[in-house]
Order: sequence, then C-alpha cells, then structure tokens
Amino acid sequence: MDIFSRLPLLPRRIVQSYLQDVSPQQRRLFSSTCTVAESSKKYSATLLLPKTEMPTRHKKPVVEEQRLRAKTTTRLYAWQNEHRSGPLFVLHDGPPYANGNLHMGHALNKVLKDFINRYKLLRGHRIHFVPGWDCHGLPIEQKALSKLTKKHTELDPIEIRRIAKAEALEAIVTQKQEFLDLGIMADWDSDSNTYRSLDHDFEMRELKLFERMVERRLVAYRKRPTYFSPASRTALAESELTYREDHQSRSIYVAFEADTSQPSPGLKAALSEVQSKTGGDPTLKLVIWTTTPWSLPGNAGVAINKDAIYEVVSRSDGQALVIMQDRRPHLEEILGPCRVLATIRGEDLIGTPYYHPFHGRNSSERAPVVFHSDNVSSSSGTGLVHSAPAHGHDDYTDFQALGLLPDVLRSPIDDSGCFTAEVGQWSQSDVAGSLIGEPVLGKGTALMIDLLGRDGWLLAEAKHKHKYPYDWKSHTPVIVRATSQWFVSLESLRSLAIDALDKIAFHPAQSRQRLESFLQSRAEWCISRQRSWGVPIPVLFDSDDRPILDRASLSHNISVLKEKGADHWWSGPIRDFAGNQTGAHRSMDTLDVWFDSGSTWTLLNELDRGVFTADVCLEGSDQHRGWFQSQLFTLLAQGEGRLPYKSLITHGFILDEKGSKMSKSAGNGLSPSDIVHGVENKAGYGADALRLWAASVDYQRDVTLGQSSLTQAAETLRRLRSVSRFLVGVTGPYSKSSSETASKFLLDRYILDELASVEREVAAAYESFAFNRALNAITTFCASTTSTLYFDVIKDILYCNAVHDPRRAAALQVCRQVLQTTLKMMAPLVPHLAEEVHEAWTGGSCSVFEEVWTPRTTSDEVARNLTMPLLRLRQAVINIGEVARTDGSLGQLSEADMWITGSGSASQATIENLLSNEEIIPVSQIKQGVPPSDRTVVATTNLILGDDADYEIKLTRSVLVKCPRCWKHRSTSEGQLCARCQGVVVME
Ligand SMILES: [Zn+2]
Repeated sequence: MDIFSRLPLLPRRIVQSYLQDVSPQQRRLFSSTCTVAESSKKYSATLLLPKTEMPTRHKKPVVEEQRLRAKTTTRLYAWQNEHRSGPLFVLHDGPPYANGNLHMGHALNKVLKDFINRYKLLRGHRIHFVPGWDCHGLPIEQKALSKLTKKHTELDPIEIRRIAKAEALEAIVTQKQEFLDLGIMADWDSDSNTYRSLDHDFEMRELKLFERMVERRLVAYRKRPTYFSPASRTALAESELTYREDHQSRSIYVAFEADTSQPSPGLKAALSEVQSKTGGDPTLKLVIWTTTPWSLPGNAGVAINKDAIYEVVSRSDGQALVIMQDRRPHLEEILGPCRVLATIRGEDLIGTPYYHPFHGRNSSERAPVVFHSDNVSSSSGTGLVHSAPAHGHDDYTDFQALGLLPDVLRSPIDDSGCFTAEVGQWSQSDVAGSLIGEPVLGKGTALMIDLLGRDGWLLAEAKHKHKYPYDWKSHTPVIVRATSQWFVSLESLRSLAIDALDKIAFHPAQSRQRLESFLQSRAEWCISRQRSWGVPIPVLFDSDDRPILDRASLSHNISVLKEKGADHWWSGPIRDFAGNQTGAHRSMDTLDVWFDSGSTWTLLNELDRGVFTADVCLEGSDQHRGWFQSQLFTLLAQGEGRLPYKSLITHGFILDEKGSKMSKSAGNGLSPSDIVHGVENKAGYGADALRLWAASVDYQRDVTLGQSSLTQAAETLRRLRSVSRFLVGVTGPYSKSSSETASKFLLDRYILDELASVEREVAAAYESFAFNRALNAITTFCASTTSTLYFDVIKDILYCNAVHDPRRAAALQVCRQVLQTTLKMMAPLVPHLAEEVHEAWTGGSCSVFEEVWTPRTTSDEVARNLTMPLLRLRQAVINIGEVARTDGSLGQLSEADMWITGSGSASQATIENLLSNEEIIPVSQIKQGVPPSDRTVVATTNLILGDDADYEIKLTRSVLVKCPRCWKHRSTSEGQLCARCQGVVVME
C-alpha cells in the first residue's frame, strides 16, 4: 500500500471527486461525510503534510536514470579515484567477448560486481575496477568474415586482422553503452581505466609471459592428438568443448585377422584346441568395437587387458573370433549365438601381430600388434580396443609409455575434417582413394563402413548414443586428430595451482572442488590456434621445420613487434626477424584467447601501493575451466609464487521461467537492453528493477528470469521508492548539522535499535556477498518496521502535532536516521533511486556514495524488552478490531476504546508502560480495567505473554467522536477539535 494513500487528505479528495458525479438526493446521503470533509478543509492548512518534488513514479524510469547516470557511474568512479583515501579494493574484471550485444549473463555478472564495488566504496574503500574486453579469436574473425564474400583462405592475414579488429572495436562501443545503461560504476570513457586484449601494451605484456614460459622450458611444439573443430578449422582446448550426452554415432564391430605364424605358448595351446574342435586350420580374428570408424586408418595396435580372460568363439558363419570372456553375454546379442572353442589369458595374446585393413598384406610398415593397457575394462565393447595414437589421448599415452610411438603419427585428415591422400591403400586394391576428400564425420564414415562390409572386415553395426565433445562456439562435433601444436606443460604447474587453492576463498565453498577437479584433469594446455586474429606466437622455424626457441631469437622477435606492432609479424619482411638465416620461416599460429585473458593479471602489476593480487574475481561458473585456470597457470608459470586473486565468486546461468537455459538461438532470451529500455509499446523496467531482480536471486545457483520476476522486482522498487519518498517528504531539507540525539520515547528507541540491527545484518550480508539476504533485510525493515508500524503511529504526530512539539521533533530525528541509513543500505543495489532520493532530500549535487557508511554498533536491549510486549498487544488489538469490523460491530479501530486487565507478576508494569506509550495502539483511548456494564463490548481476546503475564482485552465503541482536523476519535462533540488539535490551532 502506498504510504501517501493513508494520508488524511486522500479520503476527503475521494469523497469530493465522488460527489461531483452524483445527484442532489444522493449527495444528501453523504451529508455527514460532507460536513467532516468541509470542516477538514478548514484545517488542512494547519496540517504539516509531507512535501517533496520527488514524483511517485516515473512513466519511463530509464529517462530519469539517464539523467543521473554520469553522476553515479563515470563521474563517481573518477571522483573516488581522486578523493578516496581508504584502502584500495581491487575487483578484477574478467573480460566479456567483444562480439555482439550483451546477454543477460553479462548483465548479471557486471551488476553483481557493481553491488560489491559500490558497497566497498560506501564503506570507505578506493575502488579499482578496470573493465575490459576479450577481443581476439575465432568467433570475431568469423563474424567479420561473414560480412565479406571471400573465404578466409583467400584473404591475406593482415586483411583478416584489420576487419576483425574493426568488428571487435564496434562491439566494444555497443557493449560499453549497454553496461552504462545498467548503471555500472567505472571510468568507461578512459582508455587507461578500461582494457582490451588487442591493446598494444596488453599484447606485449602477454608475449613477455610467453617468453618467460619458454625460458622456463614449459612450452613445447609437437605433434599430438588434439581436439579439432572441422567447422572452425582450428585446434580447441578442453575448455572450449561442450559435451552432448545424446550424440549418435555409427558404431561398428570389426574383425582384424591375427597373424598366428609365431604364437606364444598360451596362444599355441588355444590354437590346437580350436583345431581339434573345428577340424580345420584356424584363422583367429581379433574383434574390436569402435564409435569412430573414420579413425581406422590410424589404427596402430589393439589394446587388451593382460589380466582378463579371453575366449575364441565361433559364430554360425564359422569364423573364430577372439573376445573378452566377460563381454560374451553382451556380444551374443549383437553377433548372434557363439560357441566357445577355447579360452586364453590376456597376457598370452600380447605381442600377436595382425593384418591392418589399410596396410595391405605386403606392406613394408611394421605390423600392428596386441598390447596391454590398464584402460581396457570389461565395461564396454569387446574387451579388445582399437588404438590409434593420432586420434585418442589415452592411445597416445599408451604408445608413448610402451615406446611404440611411431615417428610419424598416421592422421590422414585435413583442417576441414576430410580424408587426405595419406589415408593409405585399402587391402589389395586402391579403393581407399574414394575416401579422399570426404568428411570423416559424414560421407567418409559411410564409405568406410561400406568398404569394411564389402571385404569381410565388418561383423556388425549398431547405432550408439553417447557423450561426445562439441565445439562450444559452432556447436558442431569435434574430432581428435594429430596436429603440430604449441603446448604448455602443466605437470609442475598443476600441483602448484592445486596447492594455491588453500589460499583462495571460494564463494560458494563447493566451487573449490570444481576448480580442483578441472585442474587435476589437465596435463597440458594447447595454446596455439591456426587463425590470424590473435596475438602471434613469435617463433621462427629453421629450414628443417624445427622451432628456434633460443632466448635471443624470441626476445628479438618480441622487441621488433614491440616497436612495430603485432601486424608486423605477418606484414614485415622475414629478415626483420631472421636476419640472414636462410630457410627460416615464421610460425603462423596465434595464441589461444585463454592465454590472452589469462594474462589480464599483468594489468594489476601497475597499481600503486604494491597491490597486484585482485581482492575478488567474480565470473560465471564456466570459468572454472576457463579464465580462473588460465590466470593461475600464466601467473604460476612465471615462477614468482604469487596468486592472481584472493577470492573467487561464481554465479550460475540464467534460465527462463520454465527452467530452460536462456539463449538467443533457443528464442527464449531476454536482452538486458530490452528490459531496461522496453520494446515497442511496452515501457522498460529501467536498470534499477533489473538490478533488484539480480539482487533477489540466489545467484550462486542457476537463476530464472521472466516477466513475472521482473514485475516483482519493479514492485519491490516501487515500495523502496514509496518509503524513501515519504521520509524525504516529512523530514524536509536535509541538514548535516542534524546530529543524532537519543530520543527518550520508547517506540523511537525501539525503531533505532531495529535500524541498528538491520544495518548490521545488511552490512554482514554484503560482506559475504549475499545480496539477496541484504535485500530481504532491507525490504522487511521497510515493510514491517517502518511502514506497518512506525509510520502508522507517527503520521498523526508528524502531521498534526505542533511544529516544534518535542514528540514530533524526536520522531523526525528518527525519520532522518532511518532515511539516511536506508539510503546507504539500498544504494549499492539501486544506485539511481538512491541518487534521486538523495538529491531530492539534500538538494545537493554530490553523490549518495560520497559519504562513508559506518553501521551503528549500538544496541538498546532495554527498549527492545519493553517494547516487544506492547507490540504483541498492538497486534492482538488490530486482529480483534479487524474481526469486529468485518462482522459490522465496529467501524474503524480508531473508533474503539481498549480495556485491559492483567494478571501475573509482569502484567502491571507492562500495562503502565502501555498507558505511557498509548501512541502504539491505534485506538481512541486505552483504559485499565473492564468496561462498565452500559458499554457494549464489541470484541474481546486473551493474551498470554511469557510465564507471568496474562491479559484480557476488550473493545467498546468510544464515546468520543472524530476530530475534524486529525480524524482521531478524541473530540467530545461533533465538529469540535480534540484537545491536542485545539492547542495546536491556537498556537498557530
Ligand atoms: Zn484532533
């Protein structure tokens, strides 16, 4: 309910406006109301009603917010940077990607950061918040290229870099404005108080980190299986993958013919057993199962488990197949009934060679063999695993451990994910040539299966639904293929990073485990990308294609780029880098964008006061495998034992009201800009409403957003506005000299104690980044303690008592304190409203954030203990008054007299206390005792408080009538002023 709607003035207005539309007969029916209304009018000039220019609401909130924007964002940041002398607080901004408009995830992220910064500013800190943008990388490059008709392979790298840069800079302009529209405090217009990963200085600092890592021998260039996105034509880091649970593959069972010409003793025994049962010369076939038929050309061995038991079984077609014993029940469902001919221990199969489908029987290549791997279990497949070191990380590790790694990893797939001529010769024919140029994830797989089927290698095919990695940007499946890449070894850094977690505070606490498990799972970091839009890897190769990693060469290349800019790596003559060295050529790879953003901590090195560790980093929970890691690794790699941050705060994703993930592509996205500005005919909610939504959710989990939650946030905002506006209206112009003098009135003391208590609660909630707890405490205080209780009691005192009456002066003092503190408490969440209220109150131009907020430490236990029973009595009276009003035995509670009797040792003191604080209960008169017999009791109740106080309360209609000035039932006769009002009017 709007506070202003409770003013005595309003009912009269309503009556008057109503009377304009009714007939004279009807008008007579209202005569008594009319008399009161008319006579009230006489006294309205003597009432001290709230006065403020502040409007009840803004039709377009964003217009008012725009008026206050610079004051509370850019100017405020600059002001505090210059004038605040308190301790520095560093919130290090993780850069959003400079691509397109902001989505709600960005908005939630920056608003949460702003809550923290503004709170810390209010508490006296100087804030270091330098927002930045991540500018390089594939999506920006692709977006820029999509506007051209040419393919990227037809463009010069310098041209690609030029258009991609323009694309990023354009997005920055858009996003900057959108952040401003959310009221984010920062020095947005200054290049030095914002950053971009394409800034020359930024790039050079980043290359220095790379140089140091090379010096520390943490960087290596080698051919290895890597996740590769054919759609994006680049290698991807694990952090750039998303996994889909429902990926469907064509899985196949393939029989490789074993070469048993030189069997192990165990295998020999099994062979003779098979021979005795079948009567023929047995040809054993090793059965493998794979979900990536396209990887068979890369097959280099079959892994088994040496401790498992294998069986030779025969199918109806008479083939003798080798499978793991434990897998037979499952395989019979696919391969049909099998007859067991012999068993064989896994270890007896080791070393057995077999014929490769792509080698041909007379191939000069070393024959692939069976080997042991701990990774083989009885949980899936056949118990014999197709192993291709170019296409699997475990396969690679197995071969490496066995010393079997071929010099050249067979990986006949190009950057677009198609088979190359290296695919090899198919058995005895050249039919494999049909595979060349076909995409391995499409027609290449189908052709492969046809070939295997045609020539008798294929036993069965089954569709297989499983978890599969996808390119997180293009949402297409990735493959694993061996490519030459730059890797940072994480072996030593990983344990340093995990040890460092003990020194970092995590909010929520369980996010530590998440980061730790991501760190545990990483052995190395592929930092190279085969694209042009990025920071170059400034390494030369010699004429034998070996990287030149000596210190002098790398350092020279970086110094050239420092002088001439990163573009020079592509556009400058090779002699600028290689001098006279013949055959030297440049690496054409760029650094992973996670290396870019991982270097952002270098910005903090330049801060004064020696602070270079951020107090807080706050990002979406996906950054556990992104920025949180890459910052840790790049800093720990410098070997200085420092950490990039003290506290990590994470937030969840935004879901629509049905619980689906919000995304532009799914069509359920709400854009922050539309929420703030509105769309078509619908007015926007403004930034403060959006911010209140962000404050109201438990952001550490996934959160929902929709029209109903926004409407609710707008309603909360309206209530805060209403309370603030009332307080501004009654307290009048703010004066700094109004010192906080202690009120002697019990209710005032209680309210101030409540204020101190809520203030501590709100500050503690901000300190622990629990904004929903802060908001909840503020709104509960505004709704219950102030609106429902205090304002209800003191409105009569403020409007109707004499202007300098001590009770009124004390109440005003309390109102000032409530307003001042409420403003501080709500300002971090709703800065525009806080500035507007502050401006309306003080009339000044300074910001509400300039004055430091020091929460009260006082408490008034005595007042609290004395007031609590009176509040219980008040509620009991309001409750029975409501019942009486509903059944028609009473009009308003103000027309009733309250009669109270008590028993028990504490009751008398409470009743005396009540009698001296009559204002607390909104009745005509309070009397101790029972009503005389000629007074009709309209309501009654009993109330037990504690162990030793028992009250009986009765209500009767008051014999007094409504005072035409204050509307309290305290006049002895109709039309006469009550004693209080008489005194006030005479004084006037
Ligand atoms: Zn009166």
